[in-house]
This record gives sequence, C-alpha cells and structure tokens, in this order.
Amino acid sequence: MSLTIAVDELRSYVRQFANDRIDPDYLRVCERNKEFPKDTWQAMSEAELHGIAIPEEYGGHGGGVMEQTVVVEELARVMGGMVTMWSINTHSAITLQLHGTDEQKQTYLPKMARGEHRIGLSFTEPDGGTDLLGALKTRAEKVDGGYVITGSKTYTTMVDDVDQLLVLARTSPSEKKTQGLTVFLVPADAEGITATRLDTLGQAAIGTFLVHYDGVFVPDEAVIGVPDEGWRYLASSAINHERIIIAALCVGAMTGVIERTVSYAKEREAFGSPIGKFQAVQHHIANMEIERQAARLLTYRAADLAIAGEDFMLEASVAKAFASEACSRAADLGIQVLGGAGYCSEYHIERIWRDTRIMRIGPITNEMVRNYVAESLGLPRSF
Ligand SMILES: Cc1cc2nc3c(=O)[nH]c(=O)nc-3n(C[C@H](O)[C@H](O)[C@H](O)COP(=O)(O)OP(=O)(O)OC[C@H]3O[C@@H](n4cnc5c(N)ncnc54)[C@H](O)[C@@H]3O)c2cc1C
Repeated sequence: MSLTIAVDELRSYVRQFANDRIDPDYLRVCERNKEFPKDTWQAMSEAELHGIAIPEEYGGHGGGVMEQTVVVEELARVMGGMVTMWSINTHSAITLQLHGTDEQKQTYLPKMARGEHRIGLSFTEPDGGTDLLGALKTRAEKVDGGYVITGSKTYTTMVDDVDQLLVLARTSPSEKKTQGLTVFLVPADAEGITATRLDTLGQAAIGTFLVHYDGVFVPDEAVIGVPDEGWRYLASSAINHERIIIAALCVGAMTGVIERTVSYAKEREAFGSPIGKFQAVQHHIANMEIERQAARLLTYRAADLAIAGEDFMLEASVAKAFASEACSRAADLGIQVLGGAGYCSEYHIERIWRDTRIMRIGPITNEMVRNYVAESLGLPRSF
C-alpha cells in the first residue's frame, strides 16, 4: 500500500500503518524511560507521514486540514496523546510554509517531509500562557547582522529532540500588544540556551521544558517572514487548524480507548459471565461511544468549514473543548471498566488518560474557549 492523499484511502493507509508499525508497548517503555519514541518516528518517516501537510514542490504530499485531521485521528487511535510529536512538527512546517522566506522553505521543508528535521514551538512564557501577549517579556535586540534574544519560555516541548525552535520575541515597542513581535527560527542547541525538563503528569516520552535564552545570537535570516509581524503569522489560520488537529487527536484516542475497553469487557469474567454483559458496564461504554460520535461530528464540521473558506474559529475551539473533555471522561471510564487492570500501564488506558489531559489546557484552555462561546452569544467580554 502506498500513501495517497484521497481521504478514504489515506484513512485506510494510516490505519493499517498504525496497526502494523506502531507498538503501544514500545511507547509505554519510552514513556517510562522518558525517551523520545525514535523508532515510531522513523516508521512514520518511512511511511511518508511527516510530509502530509508539506507542499509537493518541497517533497511532501500537499495535504490540507482534512488530510491532517484524518492522519491524526488514525494515529491517535493507537498512539493516544503521543501523536503530539507529529502534530507539533507538522504545525511548525505549516508556519514555515505559510510565512517563511523562500530560502527557509527550500532549506528545511524537504528535510521535514523526510522526517530528518524537527522544529518545536517556544511561545509560552513562565508568567502565563493564556495571557500570552500580556506575559511576554522575551525580547530580541537588533545588532549588526542579526538579533540577540533574551528571555525565558516554558512548556517548550521536545527541546531535547528537535533541531530548531520557533521563538516569539518582542522586537519593537508598541502600544498594541499584538504588534512589534517577531518569530525566529533558532537552533535548539544555540549558545546561550539552557533547557530544564519539567516533571509532568504525562507526555514524558516527548518532554516539555523550561528554556532560558541568555543573549542568543541569531542572524537576520532566522526571522520568519518579516520582523514585527510575528503575531499576525501565529494568529492566522494555522492556530485554529491546530485546534481541529487537537480535537481529532482526542477523537482518535477515544476510539482506541473504546476498542481496548470493549475487548477487555468481552474477555474478563465475573459472576460466571463476561463483565460486558452487565448493564452498568455496557452503559459506561455506550456513554463513551455517544460522546465520541458527537466529538467526531464537531471536529469534521470545523474541518469542513475551514476547507470551505468560512470562519471556523469558534467551531474549531468548540470541537477542541468538547473532544478534550469527552476524551478525559472516556479514558476515565475505560480505567473504571478495566478495574485494577485499567490502573496498570500494560493496558495503556491510564497513559492515554494522562497524555491527553493536557489537551484541555493547551494550546488554549477550555475556560478561554468558553469565554469566546459566551461572547459569541452576545455576552460582554469577561477579560
Ligand atoms: C505538557 C505541555 C506541553 C506544552 N507544549 C507547549 C509548546 O510546545 N509550546 C508552547 O509555546 N507552549 C506549550 N504549552 C503551553 C500551553 O499552551 C499553556 O499551558 C496554556 O496556554 C495555558 O497557559 P498556562 O499554563 O500558563 O495557564 P494560565 O494562563 O496561567 O491559566 C491558569 C488558569 O487560569 C485560567 N484563566 C486564565 N485567564 C482566564 C480568563 N480570562 N478567563 C477564564 N479563565 C482564565 C485558565 O483557563 C487556567 O485554568 C504546553 C503546556 C504543557 C503543560
């Protein structure tokens, strides 16, 4: 089977790939050892999955939001929240492709499509991620031939395992917080960078870090697009696509949880019959499925709107909030149905529950989504 971008065939292709090439036990060990799942990454490279969203002229497949949604959903069915390693890199590639210079695109996109180059996102700062711009203190000072970046970022994911980072920094003073910001492409091992791994509930195989930029010099060519326009780039459609992708990740993870739960409920016996015969257990599983179907519809509706060129920001945000909460509930119920086994790592559901819990917090918290929903109903802005 070879990769084709036609959506139905792409779904079958990725499903078969995930079944055949992704080993959840390997991911479990990587998580325990806090090791990047490089074998899984390599398998994805061989299956050409890192180039899904990258245009064909740069060696990718030119897939849009629908293709990415399908890929994430199918990968997450087996991988759970660990698909983050794919989605962060894909998100960086999209930012580069939409806003990078020709030279940046030619230099990095072909390598990214082959899975030979990874780029992480370094936007959130220690003083706050929801009020990202209000909290942003990192600055880049213009010097001869480039810029010097000074400041701190937190929750920068995969620092240990990426080649470069997209870093948001203030380059000009401005009355408006959204102006005077620039995105830089910075080598992850540049002189002046120190990164400290944070101890987290989940996603330990991928890792997230507190990063200090202590006078990090980057040349002029490291600017993405043009200086001072950085926020416009980040706030463009890519951000809301990211919400659709996170929603799809949660839907796929729920599918994986439900499959594992049904399979266990058919096998495990109590009082002389499989536990799946008990109505209480059936209703737990049925509730998971009802919410999965609703989350899936919201996710694909947002993707359809994006493809139609309509405003999809609210729908993408709603899909992300609903799917992430439904995913948490499903994984929690999955643990309940498996009983003690659900609490143990070899059944994978507790890891999926931990790894996907972050989706209610990032890239935007679900409280912030509710603020926007309330505003859309005509209520005054609360912040
Ligand atoms: C594992 C992990 C990986 C991450 N990866 C990355 C990454 O790769 N790159 C990156 O840049 N960032 C990353 N993030 C950061 C993530 O996007 C932020 O955690 C998120 O934006 C929330 O910011 P915060 O954690 O500072 O919470 P805060 O902004 O401090 O919010 C705390 C609480 O206050 C609430 N709150 C704040 N303002 C309001 C309001 N106006 N109305 C109602 N409630 C409000 C929030 O909803 C939340 O419940 C990651 C985070 C984690 C934990």
